[in-house]
Amino acid sequence: MTDCIFCKIIAGEIPSCKVYEDSEVLAFLDISQVTAGHTLIVPKQHARNLLDMTGEDSSRLFARVPDLARKIMKATGAIGMNIIANSEEVAGQTVFHTHVHLAPRYGNEDGLKIDFTTHEPDFTALNELASQIRQA
Ligand code: 5GP
Ligand code: ZN
Repeated sequence: MTDCIFCKIIAGEIPSCKVYEDSEVLAFLDISQVTAGHTLIVPKQHARNLLDMTGEDSSRLFARVPDLARKIMKATGAIGMNIIANSEEVAGQTVFHTHVHLAPRYGNEDGLKIDFTTHEPDFTALNELASQIRQA
């Protein structure tokens, strides 16, 4: 028995509105529909989030994303899409089974706000940070 809600959805123990399924992934409508057609794609094999997955496992998940995104856009008439994977609580993750949000976009007033605060570039700091990441 698992406590993971997405594992229960995969097992069919909790109903979901499925939009795509194959042997490795399941995609279903997000219950809260941030915009119409908001979909989650999840690997069938449980993992906490992308930070906990191998490149190979995550590549099998992401391999399905472009086709699925285009299908959702075709069905909804959306003109763009935010594709997001919140990873860990501080980043907004509330369900700890890897999932990628596909949120169709219809315009600036469609109810989804994603604000990246921008800063004046400090090129010395940028170079230092890039170097730290390369060496990590
Ligand atoms: P997170 O905040 O972890 O990035 O996203 C979790 C998402 O799962 C939320 O957008 C939430 O609406 C969705 N969700 C939570 N429980 C259920 C459920 O039982 N069914 C479906 N379809 N979506 C769910
Ligand atoms: Zn799970």
